[in-house]
Amino acid sequence: MEDIPVDVGLIYEGERIRKSSMYVDLAGPKSKGAELLLVVPPDEVEDGKVEVVGPDVDQMEEGGRYPFGILIKVAGEKLEEDLEGVFERKLHYFCNYIQGFMHLNSRDIIWCRISKDAAKKGLKLYHVGRVLVNLYKSEFDVIEKIQVTFYTDEKAVDEHIARAREVYEKRDARASAIKDEDVDVFYSCLLCQSFAPTHVCAITPSRSGGCGAVTWFEGRAAVKVDPSGPIGEIPKGEVIDPVKGEYSGINEYVREKSNGTIERVYLHSLFDYPHTSCGCFEAIAFYIPEVDGIGIVHRDFHGVTPFGIPFSTMAGQVGGGVQSQGFLGISIAYLRSPKFLQGDGGWRRIVWMPSQLKERVRSAIPQEMYDLIATENEAQDLDTLRKFLEEKQHPVLERLKAEEAKEKAEEAPEEEQPAATMPELTVPVQAGAGAPVEFTITFKNAKIYAEKIIIRRKE
Ligand code: SF4
Repeated sequence: MEDIPVDVGLIYEGERIRKSSMYVDLAGPKSKGAELLLVVPPDEVEDGKVEVVGPDVDQMEEGGRYPFGILIKVAGEKLEEDLEGVFERKLHYFCNYIQGFMHLNSRDIIWCRISKDAAKKGLKLYHVGRVLVNLYKSEFDVIEKIQVTFYTDEKAVDEHIARAREVYEKRDARASAIKDEDVDVFYSCLLCQSFAPTHVCAITPSRSGGCGAVTWFEGRAAVKVDPSGPIGEIPKGEVIDPVKGEYSGINEYVREKSNGTIERVYLHSLFDYPHTSCGCFEAIAFYIPEVDGIGIVHRDFHGVTPFGIPFSTMAGQVGGGVQSQGFLGISIAYLRSPKFLQGDGGWRRIVWMPSQLKERVRSAIPQEMYDLIATENEAQDLDTLRKFLEEKQHPVLERLKAEEAKEKAEEAPEEEQPAATMPELTVPVQAGAGAPVEFTITFKNAKIYAEKIIIRRKE
């Protein structure tokens, strides 16, 4: 590669730049930004051109925070608009190949950082653009021409964000025109397995990838141009549960690609077998047992949820490619899906979300539910949330009250029964087998009282 002052390679993909070694922050939660890749006619691309609108790294102050936009235009005979989201997502990976440059998240929630070491070596955004031109062209033969523009000037970034949001809306609206039952094949994305090895995004017309960048249409287009790439086809198979969204084809595929770790997946529920979450989801849906409802928090919200913790803390517990009961990493587009959490009651079960997000997806929320969903302005903790839901007579209260009455009836037996003691449990182990034994004990309709619980690390 031409004169780039830092190394470029896969080994830098997991590099984290801590605050103490940061030269500048670009976009991120305390600033603003967006990334956008567009497929355009060839005469609108000056092949190889890299432009920086606003100050480049050498004109930025150490420790500073700057708004940041990335616009990539590509052209090629075989390119189609449906590929934009997939190529746009690759930006995350290509940027992270650059030593001393960190890229997080996607769309209008990107967050980039340049390290002090890289700035000292002379790394500029111009160089980042040159790397992107080379990587895109070497990985995708179908890209014949490419041009990269970075924005750091505030006014230019604002205009770029507005344009990017229009495009995201258009892509998401197109995806919501068809449903899961209208197609025979779904798609998978394994891009995030580099940091969440058991994570497999199942992408269907009614559920886009967690990062929001890959819809069913984009999955279809990606398979056409790169059949052996990270996006593949999932044969739909049999419908096991049409409401929760369970398909035999997805179960088989996910079982294989997660090396047997994930056995079953519900597309539209956050209980029992929720979809795994990687780490770059745009929002989290979370169960609030105290009111038997579901809250939603997105990455841009910097306050705390009714649990008293912010998005970042919750994200740390949910990601990594595991199935977390009662938690689900989702895209913003999924809030507009007609099948949005339909296995759990859909919008009738939603009790809390940040006001900004509520306004953003206003048109997707059934009219009769809009005023019944609390935001940070009405509910800051579980007590104020319950009070709000009672005032509004939210439908979750009917379920909750029925559950509470049932529990009360069960807790008042005519005569106190002596507690049953567990018989000693012996698990047969084949002599000489040597392998560790794992087993599951299922209690049905049992109440367990424990004086203490000891959790030991599994060696
Ligand atoms: S979140 Fe899903 S769709 Fe998005 S890049 Fe990761 S694996 Fe792919």
